[in-house]
Amino acid sequence: AKSAGGNRFELADPEADARAITRHGLTTALPAALERGEFFIEYQPLVHLGDGSVRGAEALVRWLHPQHGVLGPDRFIPLAEHTGLIVPLGRWVLEQSVGQARQWRERHGDTEPLRINVNLSPCQLTHPGLVQDTVDILERSGVAPQTLCLEVTESALIGADDDLLKPLRRLAEMGVDIALDDFGTGYSNLANLRRLPVSVLKLDRSFTQGMQQFPADPVDLKIVEGIVSLAHSLDLAVTVEGVETGAQAEQLRILGCDTAQGWYYARPGPPERLHELALVDAAG
Ligand code: C2E
Ligand code: CA
Ligand code: CA
Ligand code: CA
Repeated sequence: AKSAGGNRFELADPEADARAITRHGLTTALPAALERGEFFIEYQPLVHLGDGSVRGAEALVRWLHPQHGVLGPDRFIPLAEHTGLIVPLGRWVLEQSVGQARQWRERHGDTEPLRINVNLSPCQLTHPGLVQDTVDILERSGVAPQTLCLEVTESALIGADDDLLKPLRRLAEMGVDIALDDFGTGYSNLANLRRLPVSVLKLDRSFTQGMQQFPADPVDLKIVEGIVSLAHSLDLAVTVEGVETGAQAEQLRILGCDTAQGWYYARPGPPERLHELALVDAAG
């Protein structure tokens, strides 16, 4: 940038400028983008490691920006959190995802309904409307609370006091599952897990990466083994993220993980794709 007056020029950093403009531009464009329907959701299957069946999907939001094309959530979720737009955006994601779960159920007949996992940002947790909004959305769509799993990152719940946990407890009492996302990246005291109203641990991708070779790094194996046995002793299910190879899937299955997610099974995709995967699965 040029300095305002005088004869001195600061050296411009064009890349930093472009980044700043984009950040600023994206931030101010967010509200209109939500109104114009520029966001969409992709679904990535959650697969049972024991029998390979599709049990549900995680909803992952994207922004089809008129100039920049498809933007991933890492580009705009932090901005939406910063401005508070995450609350209406998150509500929209929840509504879409629950509506999708209902459609899957209708097309699926009487097989076990596909579950839907939705990410919650820390700002949504502290927003007073969370419980009521969730109840309303479930009731309007006629979807059972047991079909929904809300994912909250481990870091959002570190040191959480009772006020923060209260809405999650209420949702858990209604039958909504709460998953602790990116587990293992924070510094939570494992004993602390007992006071959290969670029923699922989502083991961070970094652990899965340690399983890339066969046999895997023995230390990684021990750590995952320990987490799984602790989780199961607390009645928590374990989901693993970022499974990219069959070898990883096999080792994680042997270690006792319950559910897996990753490119090995499918990339995030449109809802019809999930439906097809689940049907193929039910047929064969
Ligand atoms: P996350 O919740 O940890 O989601 C998993 C991320 O890993 C997704 O990235 C997914 O596309 C990616 N992934 C899945 N399988 C693999 C794999 O096998 N290998 C690798 N390398 N990556 C894999 P994505 O879609 O870019 O989402 C990034 C993050 O954005 C999410 O991380 C989540 O924290 C956040 N996010 C996404 N949608 C929402 C939303 O609706 N609300 C909020 N608050 N956050 C969201
Ligand atoms: Ca997640
Ligand atoms: Ca995660
Ligand atoms: Ca992550």
